[in-house]
Amino acid sequence: MSLIVQKFGGTSVADCEKIVAAARKAIRAQREGHQVVMVVSAMGKNTDVLVDLAQQVSDNPPAREMDMLLSTGEQVSVALMAMAIDALGSKAVSLTGAQIGIRTDSTHTKARIRSIETSRVKQLLDEGNIVIAAGFQGIDENLNITTLGRGGSDTTAVALAAVLDADTCEIYTDVDGVYTTDPRVLPDARRVPQIAYDEMLELASLGAGVMHSRSIEFAKKFGVPIHVRSSFTDVPGTLIVHDPESRTRPVSGAAITKKEARITLEGIPDEPGVSLELFRRIAAKAISVDMIVQNISKDGKANISFTVPQNELKVTLDAVKQASELLQPENVTFDDHVSKVSVVGLGMATLPGVANKMFQVLSEAGINIQAISTSEIKISVLVSQADAQRALQAVHNGFELDVTPEDSPAEVSSVRVRDVTDPAIVVQRLREMEDLAIDDIELDRSQSLLLVRRVPDHPGIAAQVFDAVAAKGINIDVIIQNVGRDDCANVSFTCPVADYEKAFAALEEVVKEMGEGEVEGNREAAKLTVSGIGLRSHTGVGVRMFQALSSAGINVDLISTSEVRVNVIVDEHEGEPGLKALQAAFKDVLLDT
Ligand code: ADP
Ligand code: ASP
Ligand code: MG
Repeated sequence: MSLIVQKFGGTSVADCEKIVAAARKAIRAQREGHQVVMVVSAMGKNTDVLVDLAQQVSDNPPAREMDMLLSTGEQVSVALMAMAIDALGSKAVSLTGAQIGIRTDSTHTKARIRSIETSRVKQLLDEGNIVIAAGFQGIDENLNITTLGRGGSDTTAVALAAVLDADTCEIYTDVDGVYTTDPRVLPDARRVPQIAYDEMLELASLGAGVMHSRSIEFAKKFGVPIHVRSSFTDVPGTLIVHDPESRTRPVSGAAITKKEARITLEGIPDEPGVSLELFRRIAAKAISVDMIVQNISKDGKANISFTVPQNELKVTLDAVKQASELLQPENVTFDDHVSKVSVVGLGMATLPGVANKMFQVLSEAGINIQAISTSEIKISVLVSQADAQRALQAVHNGFELDVTPEDSPAEVSSVRVRDVTDPAIVVQRLREMEDLAIDDIELDRSQSLLLVRRVPDHPGIAAQVFDAVAAKGINIDVIIQNVGRDDCANVSFTCPVADYEKAFAALEEVVKEMGEGEVEGNREAAKLTVSGIGLRSHTGVGVRMFQALSSAGINVDLISTSEVRVNVIVDEHEGEPGLKALQAAFKDVLLDT
């Protein structure tokens, strides 16, 4: 018998009428012959109300008590849902996270799932019940209630679908699918019929709030097909799958994180182990760092900039302060009025010119780029909060995301049978369900590193630099840019070693035109790539990499992070030892695929 997991978000159960409507959907699915597990969020904005209550009694509520409080929201809705189903004449049982046996670690308010019991749920299903699971919550080894982080009911749903070997996981929400960008932010956003796990992982972690990014980690790891759809209509929504049917477009979607903060440490020692000291302390606070940019200054000192969510700035600055005792930076600055605008697409990995195009449209819109970080399937730029909305609009138009591509895949409404790995095999390979999973560590020795230092910091600079390089037919790989001291920008990127001289010459011309800046390069560079699932959300990955490389005495020239891969650029002769160091460091989580 097939099994469906149906998840209903807050707006979908905001009042009793909506609860009854959701109950009817589940009953209908059961009558169609499926076993049904529902995962339900707190009603409407109840979680926000609870957060607000906590803040009224304490500036700094203990995380354990926060979880005790927040978990009650879901308990209300599962009970009401079970009553509604009962009143409609079907059998239902509601269960809290603890009653199901969703075991998590003890990171209160951000707990990760370790394991899920399936026996009770299976038995209740076999007895003809619709099982209603409280989303977003679990229990740690000491029976403390934990929560998975805001938006975490998606993760409960997909994780349950994974362990129960469900045929599909339906995410019922207040939009009718995944759009090219948040339709509330840009009304001309377009719904996409299908999207790849990797794209959704990136989009979710870069700000597309429609799915909790950790839920996509589960979906990819365990091969759970997800159908995001409207709880208010029956039209087909978006399928999130391994391989969407069309891939002619380089960009599939754009995302915005409006509230970001940038932190810069200026004048710290440029030697192995420095990044480690900094990021280890931040990771210890379970904060995901993004857009890490480091530049070596002339006097042999380095500057490091990175971004964190604005609401984590304070805690991050505490960690920076601890690290500063050791690193003795000349200066620490931050800007908490920045936004991150990103584009994501699997097609980007094979279609050249995407980064150029992005810088071009931003330049035409007169928007200054404060930092750039690219990875194989995403490009992120940091802009001022005041420019963010315009930047998103410019990029969305620029990549014609509002226009339906000719080969747009067919609409799907039917349940799709799961297509990949047997979950039992994946579970065996992972000690814990939400463990980090690395599928590859690679060394690419064919790369050169180029750096344009101290170019003026105004709109259009990135476009000018990368247009010049693209005009010579050079394919660039990883790009990193930041604003250095004295309002100058530094732009670094990698390209194939065969193109090094050409790229260098092109850059010298650009610098001449601009009347400012210096070109530097390392013809013999190597790129080390760790790829897997959820690399940014597992805050310890960067730390493990820095640890391994620094113990081997290897200095990192450039780093770029994404949810699916982390790249570091090192000297060519350090490529081999670097590879060995990383293989040893990740041995325990390397999936032998
Ligand atoms: P739920 O309560 O059902 O979990 P959420 O509010 O968490 O709902 O997620 C749905 C919201 O996500 C939508 O209302 C929409 O504003 C927002 N959103 C952000 N990015 C996207 C996107 N790319 N596609 C669709 N919705 C998006
Ligand atoms: N109720 C929780 C929240 O608002 C979890 C969820 O809705 O996914 O964050
Ligand atoms: Mg949600």
